[in-house]
Amino acid sequence: MDRIDFRSDTVSWPTPAMREAMAQAKVGDDVYGEDPTVRELEALAAEMTGKEAALFVASGTMGNLVGILAHAGRGDEAIVGQDAHTYLYEAGGMSTLGGIFPRVLATDDTGRMDITAVETAVSPDDAHFPQTRLILVENSYGSKGGYPLPPAYFADIRAVADRHGLAVHMDGARLFNAAVAQQIPAADITQHVDSVTFCLSKGLCAPVGSVLCGSAEFIHNAHRMRKVVGGGMRQAGVMAAAGLISLRQMVDRLADDHQRAQKLALGLAQIPGVLVQPEMVKTNMVFFNLAPDVPILADVITEAMQQRANIWVGPTGWRSFRAVTHYWIGDQEIDLFLDTLRAILAEA
Ligand SMILES: *Cc1c(COP(=O)(O)O)cnc(C)c1O
Repeated sequence: MDRIDFRSDTVSWPTPAMREAMAQAKVGDDVYGEDPTVRELEALAAEMTGKEAALFVASGTMGNLVGILAHAGRGDEAIVGQDAHTYLYEAGGMSTLGGIFPRVLATDDTGRMDITAVETAVSPDDAHFPQTRLILVENSYGSKGGYPLPPAYFADIRAVADRHGLAVHMDGARLFNAAVAQQIPAADITQHVDSVTFCLSKGLCAPVGSVLCGSAEFIHNAHRMRKVVGGGMRQAGVMAAAGLISLRQMVDRLADDHQRAQKLALGLAQIPGVLVQPEMVKTNMVFFNLAPDVPILADVITEAMQQRANIWVGPTGWRSFRAVTHYWIGDQEIDLFLDTLRAILAEA
């Protein structure tokens, strides 16, 4: 890459093998259902999540949106965590386009909603209330340091959903990070949800794309919703070819990203002026803060990191940062990050 970019795993460029596969991809018109590479990707995604069918979409946001629209409609209610991506960072799509009413619940340090609170939030069949249709969950949990939630939590959510006839959709943008961190197949997690979206374009390095997975009937409905939002793509096999490499070659190596994030967190803990909780770093994200006695702010530090070493890191507030590891961040880049930050803080 042209810079050392810790801002997100979305910045990762496609690998050389992906560029090669994209050049060679067999294609057709996917709106006619005739792109063999898209079909192959959808079949593999369905298999890896233990679902009947799948749909290739342009982004994680689109996958969540068409998934939500296929489960619920105008006047329906969706239970969602207060800092879930689907609630905070998707431009309110479920309400804007679906007329779906979010019922927002608190989450704990790892992104879990309290199970009793979820059950209590389900509206009774009374004309005063919107009809609860859907529970939205997320794994790994982005707003909580990319925490990988265990299957047992989703089994509890499933039990509530089953008692009340609700659907469960998982925003699994980083589903495979969650699975690899727990050394379990992704399907062990997704067995408890009706549908799941995961991103090919983050840690899995594809340039574009996400996949929505669920039952054949659900995907049939989601296919129409994808058309509604203008998401039908034509010779999309060019992109799906990279996605096939993501699923075949890039999943197991996510463990390297997690190891490097751990190394980064442990290194940060040794730098005077940095506050970090390495024990909360379970996947590829490291959130850290400046101690109260550090006299400079985060934006000054991120600027200095760029100028000194071409290292890009995201400030998340006046005195806080997020650093994310991915395929293009190796051990040397971790060392350079630590050395550069240590030097900047020593001079401050
Ligand atoms: C990135 C992300 C999304 C959305 O993906 P895009 O491809 O950027 O639209 C959804 N949920 C979570 C948790 C994410 O991190």
